[in-house]
Amino acid sequence: MNRKAECCCGQLSIEVYGEPYLHSICHCNDCKKRTGSAFGISSYFKKDEVVAKSGKSGEYSFFHEEKNHEQSRHFCPSCGTTLYWYVSSYPELIGIAGGCFVEQSLGEPKYSISHGGKLPWVKINESIENNA
Ligand SMILES: [Zn+2]
Ligand SMILES: [Zn+2]
Repeated sequence: MNRKAECCCGQLSIEVYGEPYLHSICHCNDCKKRTGSAFGISSYFKKDEVVAKSGKSGEYSFFHEEKNHEQSRHFCPSCGTTLYWYVSSYPELIGIAGGCFVEQSLGEPKYSISHGGKLPWVKINESIENNA
C-alpha cells in the first residue's frame, strides 16, 4: 500500500510504500518546536520504500543534543511544514512527519519516547508507553 504525506499547502509531498520501519511519538522539546504541538509523530521508512517525492524543499541541519545525532530536515519553503528528515544514526532510513499522512493515515505508534518532556496532561495508551 502506498501512502502520501504532504505539507499544509500541498506543494511538497512524499509517497512511500508499506508500513513504517519505526513508528513513534516523541515528547522531546525539539519535536514540540518542530510541530508546534505537544509531541511529534516520527515515522521512519527505509529509503528504498520512497516511491515518489515532489515539490521544492528547503533544508537545515543541526546536531540534536538529546538524541546525539546529526539531523537534516526538509521543509516546504511556502508553508513551512517540516515533511521529512534524515538522521546520522539511521543512515538507511528517512523520517517522515507522521501527521502529514492524511488520506491514508498510519496506525497507532509502537513507541512513545523522551518522556522527560511529556506534558502532564498528555495521556498515552499504556500498550505503547514502553520507552520512557
Ligand atoms: Zn507547503
Ligand atoms: Zn523528539
